Amino acid sequence: MLVLNSGSSSVKYRLMDMADETRLASGTVERIGEPGGVADHASALRAVADELAGQDLGLDSPRLAAVGHRVVHGGTRFTEPTLVTDEVLDGIRALVPLAPLHNPANITGIEVARDLRPDLPQVAVFDTAFHATLPEAAARYAIDAGTAERYGIRRYGFHGTSHAYVSRAAAALLGREPGEVNAVVLHLGNGASASAVRGGVCVDTTMGMTPLEGLVMGTRSGDLDPGAVFHLARVAGLDTDAIDTLLNKKSGLLGLCGDNDMREIGRRMAEGDADARLAFDVYVHRLRRYVGAFTAVLGRVDVIAFTAGVGENSAAVRAAAMRDLENLGVVLDPVRNAVRAGGPRLVSADGSPVAVAVVPTDEELAIARDTYALAQG
Ligand code: AMP
Repeated sequence: MLVLNSGSSSVKYRLMDMADETRLASGTVERIGEPGGVADHASALRAVADELAGQDLGLDSPRLAAVGHRVVHGGTRFTEPTLVTDEVLDGIRALVPLAPLHNPANITGIEVARDLRPDLPQVAVFDTAFHATLPEAAARYAIDAGTAERYGIRRYGFHGTSHAYVSRAAAALLGREPGEVNAVVLHLGNGASASAVRGGVCVDTTMGMTPLEGLVMGTRSGDLDPGAVFHLARVAGLDTDAIDTLLNKKSGLLGLCGDNDMREIGRRMAEGDADARLAFDVYVHRLRRYVGAFTAVLGRVDVIAFTAGVGENSAAVRAAAMRDLENLGVVLDPVRNAVRAGGPRLVSADGSPVAVAVVPTDEELAIARDTYALAQG
């Protein structure tokens, strides 16, 4: 299986042998359309093909059985991995207004891969799919129903492949079936989102119609009073694109303190930097607020699972997020939490009613599995 994750300015790829789920090759082509980088997505995919050919793993190999693509927005139509046909591609195109930064790159990735190997099944795996089970009470915004319906304004959620993978892996870590486990998954990377998963089924998530809602992220604001947007337009005189850029690219940790990397924020905090401290505190406050909200949504929580760059690596964020939650049944073990390790692991104290886990996410593996399952029929 070849997995392609075509982002706006990069293409990540991974070639997997599904017999034993080993990684044959992987890499990233960066700076697409930027000075010093390749011209466009078509050239990026050709660069991927060249890199693989250089390792005798050419795209013309008869062993290559299918290509799996990450597609960010599946709307309400695509709720599971889908074999790409012309009609499906049109469907993904029709969703571009909902994901103008992401879906076009995903579409180009599919088109170029089809051109290179028209004989292979191409499978689209949607970032929104795992959240298709959100009950209407969680998915709907309280706005005029006709307007919401006409313009597709509802909560779709994102990072679904990761939330699905991590919630299952967290259940496995507890030695239980996914159907028996209620989990709060905290995907804390440069983008960040939380989800509430009841017995393997997602029932709430923090990202909404777009990936802007919810947690504080590297460069995105997360939750914000929509009234602030009107104020920026009327009083600050910003146009729609400027506000979009402000909230998606210049906000979050970056907006609060000038750095979006939690490692740098940690270094600055250690030197007593007040802006870095504030950014950390706002980030953690929002996180704790959603841990509480999703505890109430689920009623019973078996495990809180931290994943992605910050979640897997920042003991400081985990400690601050889980501090003083004994009344919610959460007892972190400070020594376990401080240990740096690779695989899934528990960082809660023995006997903590709610387990706390660190579960490395692996979206490419999850996409490869979905693609394999579908390509095999
Ligand atoms: P991701 O989007 O999952 O690749 O996560 C990227 C983010 O993870 C970076 O922007 C950092 O903020 C964070 N990160 C990576 N490594 C560490 C680390 N050792 N400690 C704290 N944060 C980290």
